[in-house]
Amino acid sequence: MKKIDDALLLVEKGDYGFCMECGIEIGYERMIARPTAEMCIDCQTATELKERHTGHSSEYSDEN
Ligand SMILES: [Zn+2]
Repeated sequence: MKKIDDALLLVEKGDYGFCMECGIEIGYERMIARPTAEMCIDCQTATELKERHTGHSSEYSDEN
């Protein structure tokens, strides 16, 4: 579980835990539940829905 240790270390340093999409704080509870999360629950859900809908995760950025 090296990856989780790295993520928790970044949380402690303050370099981690913010959504890469909208920039809001993901939240400590979510980081503990899913230390590899890079997006807030809203952006994560939206991305998963788009990927599921299109079946092509690489195309979603073209819509923005
Ligand atoms: Zn977000």
